[in-house]
Amino acid sequence: MTVENQFIFLDDARNISLIIKREDLIHPFVSGNKFRKLKYNLLQAKAENKTTLLTFGGAFSNHIAAVAFAAKDNNFQSIGIIRGDEIGDKIVENPTLSFAQQNGMQFKFVTRGAYREKEDTHFIENLKKEFGDFYLIPEGGTNALAVKGCEEILTEADAHFDFICCAVGTGGTISGIINSALPNQKVLCFPALKGDFLKNEIRSFAPNSNWEIIQDYHFGGYGKVNEVLIAFINGFFEKYQIPLDPIYTGKMVFGVMDLIGKDYFPENSKILMVHTGGLQGIEGMNIYLRNKKLPIININV
Ligand SMILES: *Cc1c(COP(=O)(O)O)cnc(C)c1O
Repeated sequence: MTVENQFIFLDDARNISLIIKREDLIHPFVSGNKFRKLKYNLLQAKAENKTTLLTFGGAFSNHIAAVAFAAKDNNFQSIGIIRGDEIGDKIVENPTLSFAQQNGMQFKFVTRGAYREKEDTHFIENLKKEFGDFYLIPEGGTNALAVKGCEEILTEADAHFDFICCAVGTGGTISGIINSALPNQKVLCFPALKGDFLKNEIRSFAPNSNWEIIQDYHFGGYGKVNEVLIAFINGFFEKYQIPLDPIYTGKMVFGVMDLIGKDYFPENSKILMVHTGGLQGIEGMNIYLRNKKLPIININV
Protein backbone atom coordinates (compact mmCIF):
# COMPACT_ATOMS: atom_id res chain seq x y z
CA MET A 1 0.00 0.00 0.00
CA THR A 2 1.33 3.44 -0.88
CA VAL A 3 -0.03 6.78 0.24
CA GLU A 4 0.35 10.23 -1.24
CA ASN A 5 3.20 12.54 -0.53
CA GLN A 6 1.80 16.03 -0.07
CA PHE A 7 3.82 19.13 -0.88
CA ILE A 8 3.94 21.69 1.93
CA PHE A 9 6.33 24.43 0.88
CA LEU A 10 9.49 25.46 -0.87
CA ASP A 11 11.80 27.85 0.93
CA ASP A 12 12.90 29.86 -2.13
CA ALA A 13 15.89 31.51 -0.49
CA ARG A 14 17.63 28.23 0.29
CA ASN A 15 15.74 25.90 -2.02
CA ILE A 16 14.57 23.67 0.80
CA SER A 17 11.47 21.66 0.02
CA LEU A 18 9.20 20.12 2.64
CA ILE A 19 6.88 17.22 1.87
CA ILE A 20 4.68 15.11 4.14
CA LYS A 21 3.75 11.46 3.63
CA ARG A 22 0.09 11.16 4.59
CA GLU A 23 0.16 7.79 6.37
CA ASP A 24 -2.65 9.18 8.51
CA LEU A 25 -4.95 8.62 5.52
CA ILE A 26 -4.15 4.91 5.27
CA HIS A 27 -7.23 3.80 7.18
CA PRO A 28 -10.03 5.69 8.96
CA PHE A 29 -9.57 3.87 12.29
CA VAL A 30 -6.26 2.01 12.20
CA SER A 31 -4.24 5.07 11.48
CA GLY A 32 -0.77 5.44 10.06
CA ASN A 33 2.01 3.49 11.62
CA LYS A 34 -0.29 1.30 13.71
CA PHE A 35 -1.68 -0.16 10.49
CA ARG A 36 1.86 -0.91 9.30
CA LYS A 37 2.84 -2.39 12.65
CA LEU A 38 -0.17 -4.68 12.86
CA LYS A 39 -0.11 -5.99 9.30
CA TYR A 40 2.35 -8.89 9.74
CA ASN A 41 1.33 -9.51 13.33
CA LEU A 42 -2.24 -10.17 12.21
CA LEU A 43 -0.98 -12.60 9.57
CA GLN A 44 1.20 -14.33 12.17
CA ALA A 45 -1.68 -14.60 14.65
CA LYS A 46 -3.81 -16.21 11.94
CA ALA A 47 -0.98 -18.57 10.97
CA GLU A 48 -0.75 -19.65 14.62
CA ASN A 49 -4.54 -20.20 14.70
CA LYS A 50 -4.95 -17.72 17.55
CA THR A 51 -8.42 -16.38 18.18
CA THR A 52 -7.55 -13.60 20.65
CA LEU A 53 -5.14 -10.66 20.54
CA LEU A 54 -3.90 -9.25 23.84
CA THR A 55 -1.99 -6.01 24.18
CA PHE A 56 -1.08 -3.16 26.54
CA GLY A 57 -1.53 0.58 26.55
CA GLY A 58 -2.41 3.82 28.30
CA ALA A 59 -5.89 5.30 28.48
CA PHE A 60 -5.52 7.41 25.31
CA SER A 61 -3.35 5.02 23.34
CA ASN A 62 -3.56 5.09 19.55
CA HIS A 63 -2.34 1.51 19.66
CA ILE A 64 -5.24 0.33 21.85
CA ALA A 65 -7.77 1.93 19.47
CA ALA A 66 -6.02 0.41 16.45
CA VAL A 67 -5.80 -3.11 17.89
CA ALA A 68 -9.47 -3.07 18.91
CA PHE A 69 -10.61 -2.15 15.42
CA ALA A 70 -8.13 -4.39 13.59
CA ALA A 71 -9.10 -7.34 15.81
CA LYS A 72 -12.79 -6.94 15.07
CA ASP A 73 -12.09 -6.43 11.38
CA ASN A 74 -10.08 -9.67 11.27
CA ASN A 75 -12.41 -11.76 13.46
CA PHE A 76 -10.22 -11.85 16.56
CA GLN A 77 -11.31 -11.25 20.14
CA SER A 78 -9.25 -8.52 21.77
CA ILE A 79 -8.08 -7.82 25.30
CA GLY A 80 -6.47 -4.56 26.40
CA ILE A 81 -4.39 -4.39 29.59
CA ILE A 82 -4.74 -0.71 30.50
CA ARG A 83 -2.35 1.29 32.70
CA GLY A 84 -4.12 2.85 35.68
CA ASP A 85 -6.66 1.01 37.85
CA GLU A 86 -8.48 4.31 38.53
CA ILE A 87 -9.64 4.50 34.91
CA GLY A 88 -11.92 1.47 35.07
CA ASP A 89 -15.05 3.43 35.89
CA LYS A 90 -14.27 6.29 33.48
CA ILE A 91 -14.65 4.48 30.16
CA VAL A 92 -17.64 6.53 29.00
CA GLU A 93 -15.71 9.76 29.49
CA ASN A 94 -12.75 8.46 27.52
CA PRO A 95 -13.12 8.55 23.71
CA THR A 96 -10.28 6.10 23.08
CA LEU A 97 -11.51 3.43 25.49
CA SER A 98 -15.13 3.93 24.43
CA PHE A 99 -14.11 3.38 20.82
CA ALA A 100 -12.12 0.27 21.72
CA GLN A 101 -15.00 -1.11 23.79
CA GLN A 102 -17.50 -0.48 21.00
CA ASN A 103 -15.20 -2.56 18.81
CA GLY A 104 -15.36 -5.44 21.22
CA MET A 105 -12.21 -4.97 23.27
CA GLN A 106 -12.33 -6.38 26.77
CA PHE A 107 -10.27 -4.46 29.35
CA LYS A 108 -8.24 -5.32 32.39
CA PHE A 109 -7.18 -2.23 34.34
CA VAL A 110 -3.99 -2.61 36.34
CA THR A 111 -2.09 -0.35 38.71
CA ARG A 112 0.89 1.53 37.37
CA GLY A 113 3.11 -0.71 39.45
CA ALA A 114 1.64 -3.90 38.02
CA TYR A 115 1.78 -2.42 34.52
CA ARG A 116 5.56 -2.06 34.80
CA GLU A 117 5.79 -5.85 35.18
CA LYS A 118 4.02 -6.45 31.90
CA GLU A 119 7.00 -8.09 30.19
CA ASP A 120 7.55 -10.42 33.10
CA THR A 121 6.90 -14.11 32.25
CA HIS A 122 5.02 -14.54 35.51
CA PHE A 123 2.68 -11.66 34.66
CA ILE A 124 2.03 -13.12 31.20
CA GLU A 125 1.43 -16.60 32.63
CA ASN A 126 -1.19 -15.18 34.98
CA LEU A 127 -2.89 -13.47 32.05
CA LYS A 128 -3.01 -16.83 30.24
CA LYS A 129 -4.64 -18.39 33.30
CA GLU A 130 -7.19 -15.59 33.35
CA PHE A 131 -7.96 -15.24 29.64
CA GLY A 132 -6.80 -18.48 27.98
CA ASP A 133 -4.44 -18.57 25.03
CA PHE A 134 -3.72 -15.36 23.09
CA TYR A 135 -1.40 -13.73 20.57
CA LEU A 136 0.59 -11.14 22.47
CA ILE A 137 1.31 -7.77 20.91
CA PRO A 138 3.71 -5.65 23.00
CA GLU A 139 2.93 -2.12 24.20
CA GLY A 140 2.90 0.24 21.23
CA GLY A 141 2.93 -2.80 18.95
CA THR A 142 6.69 -2.91 18.53
CA ASN A 143 8.30 -6.24 17.64
CA ALA A 144 10.25 -7.59 14.67
CA LEU A 145 7.10 -8.11 12.57
CA ALA A 146 6.03 -4.53 13.29
CA VAL A 147 9.40 -3.25 12.10
CA LYS A 148 8.99 -5.35 8.95
CA GLY A 149 5.64 -3.67 8.29
CA CYS A 150 7.18 -0.23 8.76
CA GLU A 151 9.86 -1.04 6.20
CA GLU A 152 7.04 -0.58 3.67
CA ILE A 153 6.48 3.10 4.56
CA LEU A 154 9.25 4.39 2.29
CA THR A 155 9.02 3.44 -1.38
CA GLU A 156 11.25 3.81 -4.44
CA ALA A 157 9.52 7.09 -5.17
CA ASP A 158 11.05 8.51 -1.98
CA ALA A 159 14.64 7.87 -3.07
CA HIS A 160 15.31 11.54 -3.88
CA PHE A 161 14.73 12.81 -0.32
CA ASP A 162 17.79 13.82 1.71
CA PHE A 163 16.11 13.74 5.13
CA ILE A 164 13.32 11.53 6.47
CA CYS A 165 11.72 12.78 9.70
CA CYS A 166 9.41 10.81 11.97
CA ALA A 167 7.99 10.93 15.48
CA VAL A 168 9.17 8.21 17.84
CA GLY A 169 7.51 6.42 20.75
CA THR A 170 8.84 2.91 21.28
CA GLY A 171 11.12 3.07 18.22
CA GLY A 172 9.53 0.39 16.04
CA THR A 173 8.35 2.67 13.28
CA ILE A 174 11.60 4.59 12.94
CA SER A 175 13.53 1.30 12.88
CA GLY A 176 11.54 0.17 9.84
CA ILE A 177 12.16 3.52 8.17
CA ILE A 178 15.90 3.32 8.93
CA ASN A 179 16.05 -0.19 7.46
CA SER A 180 14.50 0.91 4.19
CA ALA A 181 16.21 4.30 3.90
CA LEU A 182 19.08 4.56 1.41
CA PRO A 183 22.65 4.99 2.70
CA ASN A 184 22.75 8.62 1.52
CA GLN A 185 19.49 9.50 3.28
CA LYS A 186 19.51 10.71 6.84
CA VAL A 187 16.71 9.67 9.19
CA LEU A 188 15.82 12.15 11.95
CA CYS A 189 14.04 10.70 14.98
CA PHE A 190 11.83 13.02 17.05
CA PRO A 191 11.01 11.31 20.37
CA ALA A 192 7.64 12.19 21.90
CA LEU A 193 9.04 11.45 25.34
CA LYS A 194 12.15 11.90 27.45
CA GLY A 195 14.57 9.09 27.95
CA ASP A 196 17.71 7.44 26.76
CA PHE A 197 16.38 3.96 26.13
CA LEU A 198 15.57 4.69 22.49
CA LYS A 199 19.07 4.39 21.07
CA ASN A 200 19.40 0.79 22.21
CA GLU A 201 15.88 -0.08 21.15
CA ILE A 202 16.50 1.28 17.65
CA ARG A 203 19.90 -0.44 17.42
CA SER A 204 18.29 -3.75 18.29
CA PHE A 205 16.04 -3.52 15.21
CA ALA A 206 18.07 -1.42 12.77
CA PRO A 207 21.78 -2.06 12.05
CA ASN A 208 22.33 1.05 9.85
CA SER A 209 23.80 4.19 11.35
CA ASN A 210 22.41 6.94 9.11
CA TRP A 211 20.09 8.28 11.79
CA GLU A 212 20.09 10.80 14.58
CA ILE A 213 17.88 11.44 17.59
CA ILE A 214 16.69 15.04 18.01
CA GLN A 215 15.88 15.38 21.71
CA ASP A 216 14.68 18.99 21.83
CA TYR A 217 10.99 18.68 20.92
CA HIS A 218 9.26 16.39 23.44
CA PHE A 219 7.65 19.41 25.18
CA GLY A 220 8.34 18.06 28.66
CA GLY A 221 7.52 14.40 28.08
CA TYR A 222 4.98 11.92 26.82
CA GLY A 223 1.51 13.44 26.46
CA LYS A 224 2.72 16.83 27.70
CA VAL A 225 1.60 19.86 25.72
CA ASN A 226 1.68 23.62 26.09
CA GLU A 227 -0.09 26.55 24.49
CA VAL A 228 2.73 27.06 21.98
CA LEU A 229 2.29 23.52 20.65
CA ILE A 230 -1.52 23.79 20.51
CA ALA A 231 -1.28 27.14 18.68
CA PHE A 232 1.22 25.60 16.25
CA ILE A 233 -1.10 22.66 15.47
CA ASN A 234 -4.04 25.02 14.91
CA GLY A 235 -1.96 27.37 12.75
CA PHE A 236 -0.54 24.53 10.69
CA PHE A 237 -4.03 23.25 9.96
CA GLU A 238 -5.26 26.70 9.02
CA LYS A 239 -2.38 27.22 6.63
CA TYR A 240 -2.00 23.77 5.04
CA GLN A 241 -5.24 21.90 5.93
CA ILE A 242 -3.14 19.10 7.39
CA PRO A 243 -4.29 17.88 10.82
CA LEU A 244 -1.57 16.96 13.34
CA ASP A 245 -1.96 15.14 16.65
CA PRO A 246 -0.67 16.61 19.94
CA ILE A 247 1.28 13.56 21.16
CA TYR A 248 3.49 12.69 18.18
CA THR A 249 3.17 14.39 14.80
CA GLY A 250 2.53 17.89 16.15
CA LYS A 251 5.81 17.79 18.08
CA MET A 252 7.76 16.34 15.16
CA VAL A 253 6.47 18.87 12.61
CA PHE A 254 7.06 21.70 15.09
CA GLY A 255 10.63 20.47 15.45
CA VAL A 256 11.26 20.24 11.71
CA MET A 257 9.91 23.75 11.10
CA ASP A 258 11.97 25.08 13.99
CA LEU A 259 15.12 23.43 12.60
CA ILE A 260 14.45 24.87 9.14
CA GLY A 261 14.27 28.31 10.79
CA LYS A 262 17.57 27.65 12.57
CA ASP A 263 19.34 26.67 9.32
CA TYR A 264 19.86 23.10 10.49
CA PHE A 265 19.25 21.80 6.97
CA PRO A 266 21.76 22.57 4.21
CA GLU A 267 20.70 24.42 1.04
CA ASN A 268 18.77 22.36 -1.52
CA SER A 269 17.61 19.83 1.07
CA LYS A 270 14.58 17.75 0.25
CA ILE A 271 12.85 16.86 3.50
CA LEU A 272 10.17 14.19 3.93
CA MET A 273 8.13 14.09 7.12
CA VAL A 274 6.14 10.92 7.84
CA HIS A 275 2.65 11.65 9.18
CA THR A 276 2.14 8.60 11.41
CA GLY A 277 -1.52 9.39 12.19
CA GLY A 278 -2.76 9.44 15.78
CA LEU A 279 -5.61 11.86 15.16
CA GLN A 280 -7.98 9.84 17.36
CA GLY A 281 -6.07 11.28 20.32
CA ILE A 282 -7.23 14.84 19.67
CA GLU A 283 -10.65 14.34 21.25
CA GLY A 284 -9.23 13.04 24.51
CA MET A 285 -6.64 15.80 24.62
CA ASN A 286 -9.36 18.43 24.10
CA ILE A 287 -11.32 17.09 27.07
CA TYR A 288 -8.19 17.51 29.19
CA LEU A 289 -7.51 21.01 27.79
CA ARG A 290 -11.09 22.14 28.41
CA ASN A 291 -10.88 20.93 32.00
CA LYS A 292 -7.72 22.98 32.46
CA LYS A 293 -9.38 25.97 30.75
CA LEU A 294 -6.66 25.97 28.10
CA PRO A 295 -7.10 26.63 24.36
CA ILE A 296 -8.17 23.48 22.50
CA ILE A 297 -7.13 21.92 19.23
CA ASN A 298 -9.44 23.44 16.67
CA ILE A 299 -9.42 21.12 13.71
CA ASN A 300 -12.08 18.94 12.21
CA VAL A 301 -10.95 15.42 11.47
C1 LIG B 1 2.46 5.06 18.15
C2 LIG B 1 2.75 6.27 17.36
C3 LIG B 1 4.07 6.69 17.08
C4 LIG B 1 5.26 6.00 17.65
O1 LIG B 1 5.55 4.80 17.00
P1 LIG B 1 6.67 3.84 17.60
O2 LIG B 1 6.76 2.75 16.62
O3 LIG B 1 6.15 3.36 18.92
O4 LIG B 1 7.92 4.61 17.76
C5 LIG B 1 4.25 7.80 16.29
N1 LIG B 1 3.19 8.50 15.81
C6 LIG B 1 1.93 8.14 16.08
C7 LIG B 1 0.83 8.97 15.55
C8 LIG B 1 1.66 7.03 16.86
O5 LIG B 1 0.39 6.69 17.12
